[in-house]
Amino acid sequence: MITKQNVLELDNNDPIGFARDRFYIPPGKVYLDGNSLGLMSHDTHARVAEVTNRQWGKDAITSWNKHNWIGLPQRVGEKIAPLVGAAPGQVICCDSISVNLFKTLAASLTLVQTEQPQKNQVLSTPDNFPTDLYMVQGLQQLLGQQRCELVLEKEQQLADAVTDTTAVVLVTEVNFRTGRRLDVETLIAKAHAAGAMVIVDLAHSAGVLPVDLDAWQADFAVGCTYKYLNGGPGAPAFIYAAERHHAKLQQPLVGWMGHANPFEFTPNYSPAPGISQFLGGTPPVLSMSAVDAALDAFKDVNLGQLRFKSMQLSELFHDLVVQFELTSELTLIAPEDRNQRGSQLSYESEHAYGICQALIERDVVADFRSPNYLRVGFAPLYNSFHDVYLAVQALADVIESKAHLSERWQQRNAVT
Ligand SMILES: *Cc1c(COP(=O)(O)O)cnc(C)c1O
Repeated sequence: MITKQNVLELDNNDPIGFARDRFYIPPGKVYLDGNSLGLMSHDTHARVAEVTNRQWGKDAITSWNKHNWIGLPQRVGEKIAPLVGAAPGQVICCDSISVNLFKTLAASLTLVQTEQPQKNQVLSTPDNFPTDLYMVQGLQQLLGQQRCELVLEKEQQLADAVTDTTAVVLVTEVNFRTGRRLDVETLIAKAHAAGAMVIVDLAHSAGVLPVDLDAWQADFAVGCTYKYLNGGPGAPAFIYAAERHHAKLQQPLVGWMGHANPFEFTPNYSPAPGISQFLGGTPPVLSMSAVDAALDAFKDVNLGQLRFKSMQLSELFHDLVVQFELTSELTLIAPEDRNQRGSQLSYESEHAYGICQALIERDVVADFRSPNYLRVGFAPLYNSFHDVYLAVQALADVIESKAHLSERWQQRNAVT
């Protein structure tokens, strides 16, 4: 039997509990949606004010030099690098995951096909995040099936599905619906043994799991900054490209910011050396400054501590769901073993949408994913064990009172 006292003790003994004070916690709310949009830190709020009031407001265009706006993509990339196990010079902040997937897919296909022209397949999973699959489909249309053919295989069979014709494996480490975490390191080893490259999508990993791109020998990776990195709505994403590929790299979205000398304004493209060649257009200075400041919330917190707390939070949540006898309404579809999960739990229920809305009405913010999943995300930087306790109490109240069956939840909002 888990008591409220036990839960409060967990908070008292939490070695990274201090980090919660770095954030604006929406008053009176339990926020379990950091896997969709991370909360705003005090530093981020102050930085956006500084950038608008002083930098843009007073220094205007001189800020490109004076406040080094021009160096933001590299600077923010270097701040993300230690969170994903990358040595310097391999991570840059730019664009969205979608656009970065297009660039890394095209770059990796070209690299592989230069040596092995018979390889044309991009191997991924049917339940990958849709944008990942759409990007391959778009490239397939552009390049033709001889150069790019999407092949889908169930996620647990992915490593065994690599064949002679596999050029690239596109894998998301943590499934956005189920929360299952894949063994990416083993997958990379198998892909490399067959002469294929691997692009890892870290959308649900960066900032919450220890990621070791260099040690895994990943080829490319992408990730976003608005989930566990708390960069703000629509904040720019990042790209990792292993240094061993830099010299031969070719990506198709060549823009002036990725040119060796953008301010020479020459008509012919010549790529900047290293990771900077992934840049296209002008960086979004306001949002990228927000990401820069948001990353300071990781100061004095290590990824091992974050991972451990994240596993404790999800385990506590599910143990309480069992204790409150809610499992007849909610079926856990995330793996039972906490080591095989990312930092979220997903439950299947016929009434998942109504449950989610009734929870939000009780100031507990979770989200819903089609067709019938309730997702609860745990952001160990700012979620407390008490948050989890309050959330499961509210969930029990919803189900006991049948609030989730209300007519009002028949119509779905545009964003679920
Ligand atoms: C959130 C998410 C994305 C989002 O892509 P954007 O282009 O940045 O909107 C991509 N992939 C995965 C796995 C995600 O979870």
